[in-house]
Amino acid sequence: MTAALSPREMVRSGLCIGCGGCAAHAAARGAAMAFDGHGLLRPSGPGDWYRERSPALARTCPFSPHAANEDELAARLFTGAPQADAATGRYRAAYVGHVAEQDFRSRGSSGGLASWLAVELLRRGRIDALAHVAACDEPRRDGRLFRYRLSRSEGEIRAGAQSRYYPVELSQVLAGILAVPGRYAVVGIPCFVKAVQLLRREHPLLRERIRYTLGLFCGHMKSARFADSLAWQMGVAPDEVRAVAFRTKAPQRPANWYRARLAMGDGRVVEQDWWHLVDGDWGAGFFMDPACNFCDDVMAETADVSFGDAWVEPYASDWQGTNVVVARSAEVAALLEEAVAQGRLALAPVDAAFVARTQAAGLRQRREGLAYRLARRRAGIVPRKRVAPDAQRPNARRRLIYRMRRSISRWSHRMFRLARRFGAPWLYLRWARLALAAYHALAYHRGRWGRLVERIGLR
Ligand SMILES: Cc1cc2nc3c(=O)[nH]c(=O)nc-3n(C[C@H](O)[C@H](O)[C@H](O)COP(=O)(O)OP(=O)(O)OC[C@H]3O[C@@H](n4cnc5c(N)ncnc54)[C@H](O)[C@@H]3O)c2cc1C
Repeated sequence: MTAALSPREMVRSGLCIGCGGCAAHAAARGAAMAFDGHGLLRPSGPGDWYRERSPALARTCPFSPHAANEDELAARLFTGAPQADAATGRYRAAYVGHVAEQDFRSRGSSGGLASWLAVELLRRGRIDALAHVAACDEPRRDGRLFRYRLSRSEGEIRAGAQSRYYPVELSQVLAGILAVPGRYAVVGIPCFVKAVQLLRREHPLLRERIRYTLGLFCGHMKSARFADSLAWQMGVAPDEVRAVAFRTKAPQRPANWYRARLAMGDGRVVEQDWWHLVDGDWGAGFFMDPACNFCDDVMAETADVSFGDAWVEPYASDWQGTNVVVARSAEVAALLEEAVAQGRLALAPVDAAFVARTQAAGLRQRREGLAYRLARRRAGIVPRKRVAPDAQRPNARRRLIYRMRRSISRWSHRMFRLARRFGAPWLYLRWARLALAAYHALAYHRGRWGRLVERIGLR
């Protein structure tokens, strides 16, 4: 029997990541992507579309258990890639480094390579436009701070540099690609790139027009409430924020000391280090999209090339930012090598083990942590993952960490919603401070509770 799924089933199972793939082809039926009460993007539309079970959705939704997985997609896409690794997926070459020419590095979140490659593809006439994420000019009017757009000039591409830890969706840019002939590249986090690859298998026009996929490594996706929470903690009103830079760079500050900057409508600018935020510890999982609990791809294994941060020394301490790069397509690998030979990129070859070391925490959460979560899953659609369910492997402390992380994610959505409804930020902030202290005690043996955790032998 052919498998079929509806958008409603995916949402209700907590497996919808809000990529917009399902809505891209259904605009005529009134389907669109909209924010839910937690600031997560989800499909919305008339009941007959939302409830309709379709084989096409089962094949193209990135978290559908009936869709091809990352290994199956990569095996078809990158047939010549000589190396395969459990962390990076198939690949031709891997590097660590940064852009050496112009100001790509200082304007990028990391080493500036994602924007550089997109500009290079445009300059060489290999693409006509890039689908990527840029700030909205009028956040109030748009009801959001960032969205995917199609950039057709070098200036537009460069203006979109930096990482956005904020919900975005692909439906409108995919509709744009279908409407206007041309050659396109798409930048995305792993599940979004997977969605694009699954859609390319189904739709000849997308297959023909989307020529390149540029992946971003991903720890998890956050809800729009993370940006609102930054505003609360910096003493400004979320509605009056005009622009958010989640990561800014400054000399003497290691790259991994994230500092966020908010620009207000009245010209004020406020800044804060993530370390001082109640929800600024990435590992604690505040505002994480629930679907990220069931992801097993850290490095965008279905992208022609993927970019991440080199979170190992000496690179993590270098304030200017350093990329790790995994090249899978022969064309992109050749292009990178040529630019290195010309001195335009400063890249050194590395192996998969090095790349994996830069993402140790993310990989633990998507391997051992995922196996544990799969073993504990009781309801909803059963995800099909490349990791087998296993509740035994993590030790007692790791099991508690995985459970606490998941519970912080779940409750951060609820507590923020409650605090927002009652106009009482303190409600969320006090809860978050406590949750963070408990997480730190368990994960790092920090504080009074941490000493207790150590004493009772949880290591
Ligand atoms: C949600 C998220 C989680 C991440 N988690 C990790 C992680 O755990 N480990 C790690 O090493 N790296 C992670 N990254 C990737 C990292 O932050 C950098 O984006 C990457 O190293 C590329 O840096 P760069 O300087 O080369 O890119 P830049 O030159 O700054 O260009 C970035 C490009 O990505 C586009 N972009 C920004 N945000 C998004 C988005 N949300 N969706 C699609 N496109 C976007 C921009 O429009 C721009 O074109 C994450 C990125 C995101 C968006």
